[in-house]
Amino acid sequence: MHEAQFYTNSGDTDIKCLLCPHECIIKEETYGRCNVRMNIAGKLYSENYGKVTGLNFDPVEKKPFYNFFPGKMIQSVGTYGCNLACSFCQNYHMSQAEIHNIVTSKYYNPSEIVEATLANKNCCGISYTYNEPVVWYEFMMDIAEMAKEKDLVNTVVSNGYINPKPLDKMLNVIDGFNIDLKGFSKDFYIKLTKATFYPVKETLKKIAKSNAHLEITNLIIPGLNDDPVIFGEMTDWIASELGKNTPLHINRYFPCYKLNIEQTKIETLVELKKIASKKLNFVYCGNISAIYGESNTICPKCKKTVIKRLGYEIYIDQIDKKGHCVQCKYKIAVC
Ligand code: SF4
Repeated sequence: MHEAQFYTNSGDTDIKCLLCPHECIIKEETYGRCNVRMNIAGKLYSENYGKVTGLNFDPVEKKPFYNFFPGKMIQSVGTYGCNLACSFCQNYHMSQAEIHNIVTSKYYNPSEIVEATLANKNCCGISYTYNEPVVWYEFMMDIAEMAKEKDLVNTVVSNGYINPKPLDKMLNVIDGFNIDLKGFSKDFYIKLTKATFYPVKETLKKIAKSNAHLEITNLIIPGLNDDPVIFGEMTDWIASELGKNTPLHINRYFPCYKLNIEQTKIETLVELKKIASKKLNFVYCGNISAIYGESNTICPKCKKTVIKRLGYEIYIDQIDKKGHCVQCKYKIAVC
């Protein structure tokens, strides 16, 4: 067990965890809502520190990042646990794993992860992903600080449900974020994720103002968050608050975990992409076959296809080494 950061003692031995907006009051010998931060004798511990459930080299596009080191590989690492409880979780076997009935994990210390990453010369860095990295904050930060010293990039795939202070500290070492914007209403968040909406918007605004690269993923679930009007409000908000160059991944939902609604129709994704493309420069459909051609990157200025994607085959001959369109020099990607 590793002592956690961001908590205060509340009462004799009760603890208030300040890592995420739930701000759980945790009694002795019990866990917070994420089921991985435990009060032992008035100290908060991160139970999943170093307990790796997934460690793989992936294309950066798989996270997904489409405008950040396109075509590179990245070391993906995950543990278990989550601070949200989405009924449609697509990774529930890791994120919603019961504490004593988890998927197999193997202990790694941070330097082992960094060394394994450095050994792959085609790998640009590390991605903290699979389950929610916020709930293994200490392990993530220990790896990220070490990785930074070795000139590796750090990326996070997160639900964005984190308090401002720990996020500020992350912004010192994390270079790229993909934040899952699950819906665009208070109701959606409360009913389907058991969390509140406002903190996710604040996280997005803070990242957009920082030097870190930001992409957003929105999983489209039929009947729950595919209303074109609300979706349009979301894309308006992204354009005005975060910037029109914020890449948006509109992903196809498949029935999973507790939700058994039929998978999203391709036509729905394509229609929503048209709406988003009126306001945003980089909009992609995800979790669909490459035959639809909806995941290419088009230069917003000269309209050339600058990155072509056929699954995880990536053709990037139309951008230069600094990530600019070779035709018109518009900045497309961080490279
Ligand atoms: S990180 Fe876990 S324990 Fe801490 S406030 Fe969030 S859900 Fe509660």
